[in-house]
Amino acid sequence: SDWAAAVAAVRRLPADARVLLICHVNPDGDALGSMLGFGLGLRRLGVRHLQATFPGPPEVPEPFRWLPGLDLLVPSTGAYPDPDLVVCFDAASESRLGELVDRLDTAGDALVLDHHASNTRFGRVHLVDPAAAATSVVVDELLTRLDVPLDAEIAQCLYVALTTDTGSFRFEATTPAVHQFAARLLATGIRPGDISRQVFDTRPFGAVRLFGEVLGRARLEPSAAAGHGLVWTYATQDDLARHDQRPYVLEALIDSVRCTAEADVACVLKQVGPAEWAVSMRSKGAVDVSAVAVALGGGGHRFAAGFTGAGSAEDVVRSIRAELDGALIAR
Ligand code: 5GP
Ligand code: MN
Ligand code: MN
Repeated sequence: SDWAAAVAAVRRLPADARVLLICHVNPDGDALGSMLGFGLGLRRLGVRHLQATFPGPPEVPEPFRWLPGLDLLVPSTGAYPDPDLVVCFDAASESRLGELVDRLDTAGDALVLDHHASNTRFGRVHLVDPAAAATSVVVDELLTRLDVPLDAEIAQCLYVALTTDTGSFRFEATTPAVHQFAARLLATGIRPGDISRQVFDTRPFGAVRLFGEVLGRARLEPSAAAGHGLVWTYATQDDLARHDQRPYVLEALIDSVRCTAEADVACVLKQVGPAEWAVSMRSKGAVDVSAVAVALGGGGHRFAAGFTGAGSAEDVVRSIRAELDGALIAR
């Protein structure tokens, strides 16, 4: 099975093996937490030449800058020897790996740990579970099969991954098994109050003012999908500059927008270039936003997906609107 192949790939590593861990661009809590948690697990197994990285800007968002294992991080560009093993976390497709994509082909072996239904099966050994609430669930299963016991440092990483991807246990994927996993993590002695405060509830004052401005320009409109509203807003690079904020603060914006009762679909457009937008979409259940995202060159999950759009903000929203009817979920 894939599990056996993954376990064998780790077990047969020579003592001086080089292992490279990679995750998707603009890493979120699941990408970073899964990658660093697994890295700490490999370290417990005695892997000494261990590096972790992600493509694009090398900045770790402030809410994650306390995670154990950050010392594993190296810049994504540089002359590194080809690793014996590459392990990839939380990336649905090679397009999410930017300049790191070649590293999968030049490595001795390549494991892909993920939970996106849209995973394109790049790499060699695939541990992809679309039913898993987070990639960290897959990491936990592999660490268990490798007989790596959970400790508090690994647990902190995996808890951040689990809580960020489940919206703190609010989303549909929050099964009894998810709570049992969380219970095992908490049993290592980690402090959930402190972790949640750092990850979800601590932002600079400038971010509060920035949110006020960006939420103030939100628009609610009937969507093409009859009876289901669309709510959206956008944040420009100039907005960030005026409030002296880093792009990561915008990741939480979608949560303030998607609570709109009158809308089934919520979108936030984050400007990443003169006419380029990173788009976050959320659905309450009537629309499969991953279908919208895939149609527009991105991907994701049924009710949380994204893509990069070109043109003005209005252009991008028009392209989304045009896909909504076709993405209605039949009931
Ligand atoms: P978020 O809106 O939180 O950035 O992302 C929600 C989901 O959509 C995540 O599962 C993420 O993997 C996926 N996603 C977001 N942006 C992109 C993108 O540009 N391309 C692809 N393939 N997936 C994306
Ligand atoms: Mn992710
Ligand atoms: Mn994830």
